[in-house]
Amino acid sequence: MKIVMLARNPDLYSHQRIKTVAEARGHTLDIVNTLHCYMNITSRRPSVYYNGEKMTGYDAVIPRIGASITFYGMAVLRQFEMMGVYPLNESVAIGRSRDKLRSMQLLARDGVGLPVTAFAYDPKRAEDIVRMTSGPPTVVKLLEGTQGIGVVLAETMQSAKSVIEAFRGAKVHIMAQEFIKEAGGTDIRAFVVGGKVVATMKRTGKAGEFRSNLHRGGMAEAIRITPIERATAVQAAKTMGLDVCGVDMLRSSHGPVVMEVNSSPGLEGVEKATGKDVAGKIIDLLEANVERAQATRRGK
Ligand code: ADP
Ligand code: GLU
Repeated sequence: MKIVMLARNPDLYSHQRIKTVAEARGHTLDIVNTLHCYMNITSRRPSVYYNGEKMTGYDAVIPRIGASITFYGMAVLRQFEMMGVYPLNESVAIGRSRDKLRSMQLLARDGVGLPVTAFAYDPKRAEDIVRMTSGPPTVVKLLEGTQGIGVVLAETMQSAKSVIEAFRGAKVHIMAQEFIKEAGGTDIRAFVVGGKVVATMKRTGKAGEFRSNLHRGGMAEAIRITPIERATAVQAAKTMGLDVCGVDMLRSSHGPVVMEVNSSPGLEGVEKATGKDVAGKIIDLLEANVERAQATRRGK
């Protein structure tokens, strides 16, 4: 296969691992900077250009689009879809997962376990939404946050109200969420590839930190998950329509709850913690899907 990866930094562990595995299987894989791609949206002749050259002959596209360039990245990926290039994850599914609120609404409809989450426009409703989440304490989250930035634990009603008012004053949307204290600053990431959980790790925040993000100094280790946790992760991936994703869950007293489904999950933490060849699983899936998809079309 001739594969193109849309990414910004070709040197990242995840990108290099996928490239190495693909090449070892006899495929070619070009990593291109998404922001340097541009496109011609002409009837019946959609095309993408890179450095003055038309990009042709690709069988598959692997999107590794960072949250900060979602809009442009989606446009480039969609253009490849329109050209009949098979996407590892579809643009609509990535777009869905990038909107935390939309994701939670869809997961709730499908009965996936979630922390109780409340959302309001008007800061006057701050007290109501904190109570809905059985708080205080409550977790206040920026809708647009990533890597744990914009996630605040408000211990009292007064601090919850101040945080909500401050965020709303800055014209950003926030949600209030049930604080899963029993998770103890630990979350579980299940790596789902093609409807199966292929690797699982536990991430623990540094001392005194309730957020377990690796970017916030958290530590990763391999973990075994329960059948219910496995089923929850698989269902979450299915609801989002993502063939490859990282499902982040907390162990709550009312079962596993999904916090987020990440469409470009990093491979370094999970491969090093578990010793599993996740990149190999991704290429296996792509090989099988591209073969099967010759007749059908992806991208909406
Ligand atoms: P981001 O998308 O920015 O990583 P998350 O919503 O995943 O934000 O939250 C970051 C971390 O904070 C999680 O990995 C988890 O450890 C912790 N956390 C988030 N929400 C809750 C919650 N409702 N209860 C307990 N801990 C939480
Ligand atoms: N983008 C990273 C991932 O999905 C975030 C990891 C983290 O901060 O926990 O693995």
